[in-house]
Formats: sequence, structure tokens, C-alpha cells
Amino acid sequence: MNRIDDDRLASYLPDLIATRRDLHAHPETALQEVRTAGIVADHLRAWGIEVHEKIGVTGVVGVLHGRRPGRRTIGLRADMDALHMEEHNHFAYRSTVPGKMHACGHDGHTAMLLGAARYLAADPDFAGTVIFLFQPAEETASGAKAMIADGLFTRFPVDLVFGLHTDPARPLGEFATRTGPALAGALSFRAEFRGTGGHGGAAPHHATDVTIPAAQFMLALQTIVGRNVSSLDSAVISVGHVAAGSSASPNVMPSEFAVAGTARYFRTDVLRILKDRMTEQADLLARASRCSGDVTINEGTPPLVNSPDGCAAAIRAAIDTVGEDHVDGERPLSTGAEDFAYFVAERPGAYCWMGAGPGPDGVVHDVHTHCFDFNDATLAHGIRYWVNLVRHTLDD
Ligand SMILES: [Zn+2]
Ligand SMILES: [Zn+2]
Repeated sequence: MNRIDDDRLASYLPDLIATRRDLHAHPETALQEVRTAGIVADHLRAWGIEVHEKIGVTGVVGVLHGRRPGRRTIGLRADMDALHMEEHNHFAYRSTVPGKMHACGHDGHTAMLLGAARYLAADPDFAGTVIFLFQPAEETASGAKAMIADGLFTRFPVDLVFGLHTDPARPLGEFATRTGPALAGALSFRAEFRGTGGHGGAAPHHATDVTIPAAQFMLALQTIVGRNVSSLDSAVISVGHVAAGSSASPNVMPSEFAVAGTARYFRTDVLRILKDRMTEQADLLARASRCSGDVTINEGTPPLVNSPDGCAAAIRAAIDTVGEDHVDGERPLSTGAEDFAYFVAERPGAYCWMGAGPGPDGVVHDVHTHCFDFNDATLAHGIRYWVNLVRHTLDD
């Protein structure tokens, strides 16, 4: 296997940094990534890569066959969308679009995958096929689903699929991943309690009072985590919104009480426990007060679960890129959620984090904050990681 040609890779970087900063200056949010997708498609075509556009609205797929014969195919994914945020940076390539900003590094993810595509297209020294997946709408957890619904994996079947995300909290030059669940599944819920309501001061005994089961329900939610979910598993349930009655009429008992919130979990059996117990608690507590209680649950992103073979391939590519001492193969679980979870729910694969370190001011600006910027010093690491992953995984 060829070593990575440092000089050739270095010769790509000025163009890639310019592309990355151009994307940063022109952020596009979920399913509106038309300019970004056009730039991606134009670059891929210029390098002789087969291009398929508008897969999942604005998604782009590139197909590259290796020089050597092989049956296996892997998918490499970059996300392209920006966030609805105001940028507080003052450098020349700051966002030109009010209220929109590349605050999650997806400009850099797109540039890194373009860099890897260019490198591999110029020297396709691998066996099999690489699919480059440029996905829209990661931040709204809708782009991966849109691409899959558009037949992504039936039109472009892959054996393994991989994702890579910048991580400012981790030092520059480090990689991290973990096998099994890595990021949480998310759900939102809304419980509606209904009773008669009535005169709270004079005649509560003539009414049914929804405030009692609603209050009991909010306390009972925490017993689900403590008493129903195994102590060896984990889950989070939080109430973020309550609505009942009128502040102008505190002597009137409301007839409706809504309690809404979010939950996070790592296993589908835990999801089932959360759903079943929330529904039971609302119903039984409401009936004890002669009210009704109904829960609506919207399942969001599923847990992101790295497959053992995908994770092993990711760790090996990371070690090839930065050396064993700089790779954490047992990254702690995180209760964050990621749209890539939908891809690894369909096909085995792995999601990996790449350390970016603090910004030029020496401060760690986390993703989704107003002074975040993708660290261009990580571009070469990301490209090396992708190229190493392709060469090793497809040569197995
Ligand atoms: Zn994000
Ligand atoms: Zn992101």
C-alpha cells in the first residue's frame, strides 16, 4: 500500500482552505444547501468523480471506483448545513448571511471530504468503491432520513458507512470513538391532563383538579429513571414546559394542564420503558384524581450505535493518521444526538471525533457557540483519516 504523499496533499490545502472559508462566508441551513451542493458537485465532477445530485433534496453523492478490483464499498459522509445563529467572529470570511452561521464545523467537514475525494481520484490506489455522501440538514435531524428515503442505500449499497466530526474540546491531532452506543437517542413528549376545573377557593370538591395529577406526574417521571430503567443503563427525562390556567385568575382551577419535555437514552429497550411508563404514569395518576391523562411521544434521532467492525476500522485509520498515543478508542458516552445515527441504523459503520483544540485566542469555543470556527489546521488530519480508512478497509 502506498504511503500518503505529503507533498501532494499539502499542494491541495490552499485551495481547500479557500473553499472552506467560502462555505463559511455563505452558510445555508437545512435543505437549502443549494449553493454548497453546487460547489461540491462541481468539484467532484472536475476531478472525474461520478456525481448524483438532489438525493434527499440537496444531498450529493459521488462514486469513485478503485484501480484494483474489489467487491466492497464504503460510504464516507460529510454534513453541509449551517445553523440559525448570529456569528460574532470578525475575520474576513465571517458569515455574510444575517442569522445564519457555520457554528458546527460542517463547512470544514465538507472541505475535508472534498480533499479526500480529490486525493483518491488522482490516485485511486484501492480495491472496491468509495461513496462520498454529502448530506443536508444534519442539524434538524432530517437530512439522513431524506437521503435514505430517496433510495440512498439501494442505489448506492455500502458495506460500511463512516462519519467524522470536529471536536474543539479535544486537543488538535487527537481522534476518539467508541464501539456500541456512542450518542443518545432523543424523544420529546407532551402530557395533557384534562378534568372539569372549577372554583378553586369555594368549591374544589365539586370539581376534578388537573393540577394534582400533573404535579404528581412531574415527580413520577424521575422515578422512571430511578426505579424502572436498570441502574446499569442510563436515561434522562427533563420537563421543559408547563402550561395551565390563567395568571389573571389564580382562583380558578384549570381544566387542562400540559407538561412537555425531552428524554435521552442509549438502548431501544430503554426507549420502550420510557414510553410505556410515561404513558402509564399519566393515565393512572390522572384516573386517581378522576381526570384523564394522555401522553404524545415524538421519537427523534435514534441512538448512534457504532458497529464493532466499523469502529475497529475507524480506530485503525485514526492510528495510521496520528499514532496510537493520540487515539481514544473508549470515548465516554455523550447525551448529544446526531443525524448520522440514521445511517448506522441502516448499515454498520462508525462515527469518529477529531480534536481541533482552542481557537486562535486560546479559548475553546464549543460547537453551536457564536465565536466558533472550524480549525483549518485539522483539514490535513481529516483528509488523511479518510484516505487511510478507504485504503485499509477496502483492502481487507
Ligand atoms: Zn451541530
Ligand atoms: Zn455538527
